[in-house]
Amino acid sequence: MQELSHWINGKHVKGSSGRFADVFNPATGEVQARVPLASKAELDAAVADAARAQVKWGATNPQRRARVMMAFVQLLNRDMDKLAEALSREHGKTIPDAKGDIQRGLEVIEYCIGAPQLLKGEFTDSAGPGIDMYSMRQPLGVAAGITPFNFPAMIPLWKMGPALACGNAFILKPSERDPSVPLMLAELMQEAGLPDGVLQVVNGDKEAVDAILDNPTIAAIGFVGSTPIAEYIYGRGCSNGKRVQCFGGAKNHMIIMPDADLDLAADALVGAGYGAAGERCMAISVAVPVGEETANALIAKLIPRIEKLKVGPYTAGNDIDYGPVVTAAAKANILRLVETGIAQGAELVVDGRNFALQGYENGYFIGPHLFDHVTTDMDIYRKEIFGPVLSCVRAKTYEEAIGYAMDHEYGNGTAIFTRDGDTARDFAHRINVGMIGINVPIPVPLAYHTFGGWKKSGFGDLNQHGPDSFRFYTRTKTITSRWPSGIKEGASLNFKPME
Ligand code: NAD
Repeated sequence: MQELSHWINGKHVKGSSGRFADVFNPATGEVQARVPLASKAELDAAVADAARAQVKWGATNPQRRARVMMAFVQLLNRDMDKLAEALSREHGKTIPDAKGDIQRGLEVIEYCIGAPQLLKGEFTDSAGPGIDMYSMRQPLGVAAGITPFNFPAMIPLWKMGPALACGNAFILKPSERDPSVPLMLAELMQEAGLPDGVLQVVNGDKEAVDAILDNPTIAAIGFVGSTPIAEYIYGRGCSNGKRVQCFGGAKNHMIIMPDADLDLAADALVGAGYGAAGERCMAISVAVPVGEETANALIAKLIPRIEKLKVGPYTAGNDIDYGPVVTAAAKANILRLVETGIAQGAELVVDGRNFALQGYENGYFIGPHLFDHVTTDMDIYRKEIFGPVLSCVRAKTYEEAIGYAMDHEYGNGTAIFTRDGDTARDFAHRINVGMIGINVPIPVPLAYHTFGGWKKSGFGDLNQHGPDSFRFYTRTKTITSRWPSGIKEGASLNFKPME
C-alpha cells in the first residue's frame, strides 16, 4: 500500500507523528494509500521554514512571481490527464468532472498572472503643498489554507494561487480523504520555479488544524468545508488575532416559475442536483416550482431523466453520469437522511436506495433520489445532505418560493428559472444569498469575479478569488510623504486637514 507524505521545503517528507488515515478508492471500498497526520511539532516546523523562505519570495518582484504562475498553468495543462486520474481515484468523480475541478482552479492561477496589475497601489500627487500620498499592498507573511474533500484541485488552487502571487508563503492542509492531487500540485509549483519552502503541504486532521489556528506566525487562514468546522475555525482563528475567511455548507434552492422553459429547468436540475453525486457546495438540493401545474409538469419531466442516470466508477469512461460518494460514513449518513425523509412524510418518487453495481458491491455508490412534497420542518430540507438527493418543495406563489430560500440558514447559491425579466431582477435584488443564477443552475462566478456565500455559508468579509483574494492576502500601507524642501513652517500641534 502506498504511504503518502508531506511536502516540506521542496521534498516529500515522511510523517513522524506515527498517526495515519486511510485513503480509500470510493469505487471499490479498498484502502489504496495511507496519509500521515501531522503533529503540532511537524506543523510548527513547516511554518518556521516557510517564514524564512517567504522573506526572499516576498521581495521578488510581482512580475517574476507572475511568471511562476504562468509556467504553472502550462504544467497543469500538460499533466491534466494524470491529475484527473489521481483525483477520480481518490474522490470518485468522473474524469470529465475531475478535469472541470482542475480547470476551475487553473483559471484562478491564470487570473493570478495579473499580480503586477492587481498589486498596484494608489497615488495622489500633491495631496497637500509638497505632499504626496500613496498606498502599497504588502504580503502578510505566512498564510494557511484548510480545504475540503470535494474539490481537491480547485479549492487548494483558489487558495495557493492568490496567496503566493501576493508574495506570501503558504501552508496547505488538504483534506485527508484525497490528499494526492494537492501533493502533485506542490511538485508542479516547484517545477514552475517556486522556491522551496514557500509552499508547504502538511497533511493532517484536527491536530494539524488546531496547530494552524494557534501558530503565532500564521497571519491568515482560508478555510472551506462544513459549517460547524467553519464556525469553529473562524472563532478560534479570529480570537488568535488572525485574518480568517471561512466558507461553509449549503442548501441551494432553485425556483421554477410557471413561465420557465421546463425542459431547460429539468435538465438543469438533473445536472446541478446529481452531478458529482451531489457533493458540490453549489449543487441544487431544493427545487421550488411555483404553482401546482408547474410542479406536476416538472416532476413528470424529472422522473424519466433521473431514472436514466448512469452511476458507476470513473474507469467505466465518459458514459457515467456520476460516481460513488466519498466514504462509507458519507453513504450511511445520506441513506439515514433518506429514511428520515420517508418517516417524516415526504414522497419518495425516485428511490435509489437499493442501487447495486455488479463487481463494485463494496463501493460507496448511491442511486439518485427524488423527494416530492417536502416541507420546511423535515430533516431532508433543513440539513445539507451532500448526496444525490433532490427535494421538491411546492410553493403557491413567487413570494412563498423566495421566502423559502430567504429563510433557510444557508445562503451559498440560488437560481431562478423564468422568462420574465422583472421577476428575475426582483429575485436577484432581494435575495439574501451570495451567488445567484438566472436560468443558470450552478452560478459559480469565474476567476475574475469573487466566490462566497452569505449567512451560515460564509464567515468573514472578503470572498475567494477575484479582486477580494488579493485584498485578503495583502495588507495595505498608506504613506504620506513630504521632502525637506517642502517644510516651510515650524512645528504645529494641531490635527490639520490637508490645505
Ligand atoms: P469538513 O468540514 O469535514 O472538512 C474540511 C476540512 O476541515 C478538512 O481539511 C478537514 O481535515 C478539516 N476538519 C474536519 N474536521 C475537523 C475538526 N473537527 N477540527 C478541525 N478541522 C477539521 O468538510 P468536507 O466533508 O471535507 O467537505 C464538504 C463540506 O464542505 C460541505 O459542507 C460543503 O458544502 C462544504 N464546501 C463548501 C464550499 C464553499 O465554498 N462554501 C465549497 C466546497 C465545499
